Amino acid sequence: MDRAVGIDLGTTYSLVAVMDGESPRVIADASGNKLLPSVVAVDQKGSLVIGDEAKKYRVSNARQTVSSVKRLMGKGGREIVPEAQYIAAPLDVSDEKIVKVKLGNWEWTPAEISALILRELKQRAEKDLGREVKKVVITVPAYFNDSQRQATKDAGRIAGLEVIRIINEPTAASLAYGLEKKKQGLIAVYDFGGGTLDVSILKLKDGIFEVLATCGNTHLGGDDLDWALARFLLKEIEARFGSKPDQANAIQTVVDACEQAKRRLSTENEITLDIRLSDPEIDYRRKITRQEFEARIGPIVEKTVEPCLSALKDAKLKPEEIDEVILVGGSTRVPLVRATVERVFGKKPHSELDPDEVVALGAAVQADVLTGRMKDILLLDVAPLSLGIESFGGIVSRIIRRNTTIPVQATDHFTTAVDGQTSVDIHIVQGERGLVRDCRSLGRFRLKIPPMPAGFARIEVTFIVDENGILKVRARDLRAGTEESIQVKPSYGLTDEQVEKMLEDSLRFEKQDEEVRKLVEVRNHAQFIINGAKRALVQGRELIGNEESGKIEAALKILEKACEGEDAGLIWKTLNEFGEISNHLAKILMDEALREALARKKEGVFKNPVQSGS
Ligand code: ADP
Ligand code: MG
Repeated sequence: MDRAVGIDLGTTYSLVAVMDGESPRVIADASGNKLLPSVVAVDQKGSLVIGDEAKKYRVSNARQTVSSVKRLMGKGGREIVPEAQYIAAPLDVSDEKIVKVKLGNWEWTPAEISALILRELKQRAEKDLGREVKKVVITVPAYFNDSQRQATKDAGRIAGLEVIRIINEPTAASLAYGLEKKKQGLIAVYDFGGGTLDVSILKLKDGIFEVLATCGNTHLGGDDLDWALARFLLKEIEARFGSKPDQANAIQTVVDACEQAKRRLSTENEITLDIRLSDPEIDYRRKITRQEFEARIGPIVEKTVEPCLSALKDAKLKPEEIDEVILVGGSTRVPLVRATVERVFGKKPHSELDPDEVVALGAAVQADVLTGRMKDILLLDVAPLSLGIESFGGIVSRIIRRNTTIPVQATDHFTTAVDGQTSVDIHIVQGERGLVRDCRSLGRFRLKIPPMPAGFARIEVTFIVDENGILKVRARDLRAGTEESIQVKPSYGLTDEQVEKMLEDSLRFEKQDEEVRKLVEVRNHAQFIINGAKRALVQGRELIGNEESGKIEAALKILEKACEGEDAGLIWKTLNEFGEISNHLAKILMDEALREALARKKEGVFKNPVQSGS
């Protein structure tokens, strides 16, 4: 059988693992290295080198070296400004849709660079297993959006692999642990790697892993710890020697020295740094204690607390309800990080499995679930951001809520706002805010419909998020009997800042947004009733007489006045009162008259109007 392997395609390190009997193991290269630095470079002869070999060039030839390419996956040219400082090689940001990296004589997409890393791991696995490796499970941070996941899949394809599943890294990690322990309960996974932070809350029961919530920051990791120390040392070098190392090579030397120092300070209390730079010639020596290091990185480590609290809040749990905390990622070796996690969750975190390997091991388990014997393990994941469509008045009709378990399919119904409309615009948005203008536009498409009176069409919109977290949208016109399926291709990705801001804002504006939404909804509904009633009055005045007409007109004025105000409750109340007063007239006239009489101003769709106040 064609058994799949698992790959952890990391920002800083990548690994490949395979199921070996009952448990997974990470595959090492010929010299015993398990971690492949996610670095690609061009050597003096102009050939491509990958991994440790490439890492050497990061110092001698920084401009021909690409590291942290994961930060660029699925990103457009406009989105990479904060990322640029991590990528030594020059970037081409002229294309709004996709950023490119200049390496050798070529411009590469991030997926192509990642494919080089994947191919290296593929070959490593093939050598070890003595067979061809085609199928693979690749992990991504839980925060990855559609285009980032898509780019990861593309990378696999370019490397000649069949990506049978993309899974979230924290899910993989908990799978690795679940396999060993088979425990039940609530688990928090704290993954602090080289470039990303992922905090996930999982529920483990009867062999089923369910992700209750995920939160994090794709712009926070061990790199930032290195840079925090490097910035401090660069200033000190400048003060001591009167000149500032500003060449890319020199800066990379300092950053690399800082990474080494950081690793040593995870186990030692004091170390000596020795940095030699050639141009200008500088020999910089200095003792540094763990305490000094912690003072530099303290604010960064503290930044990891908020995502922990948000994840707990989303899962509606208190820290003391968490049974187990799992540490993932090389940066969790830093004692201050461990202490911080322990402080937040109030218990000692698990670290029995190697934090660098956990994700790859879990990916191998997942690969085995999909192509091997372990069919009895079910995996559930969640959609990281809410998805919906724009409806009348610029409000968002949410179709899939944030943190909904995936794969998921959800359907809602909409209708037209204008008589004789021959098409409807389905505008897909992503985000937590109530108004379209505060969300991110994922794309739009047009569904053709036969002309009908407003409010007549019944348009069924279905959102399907597949097991890889990728979205498809389908719209159907039920009344006309036509059926049309449309696939939405994700445009370029969200910046990390956008994702973070969206989540932050959603908490801050939750109440306010909900109020605006309710107000727009009731106003839409009231307008629908008012327009209908006005037409009904023209048609029905003679049938009901002047006295009743006068009463209805007076009630209409009160309703219109209420609509000008901001009080949704008052509008509903007035609407109900108006309903009673106009009930008799409504009965006399055909429903049709009411239905046809919608606002003629704007084309669009809106949720089928509710029948009574709520
Ligand atoms: P990613 O998944 O983002 O590729 P990893 O989980 O492999 O990242 O973690 C890489 C990070 O862990 C790097 O920033 C590296 O410097 C850091 N790291 C590795 N070992 C140690 C250590 N002993 N002490 C502190 N940091 C470490
Ligand atoms: Mg990782």
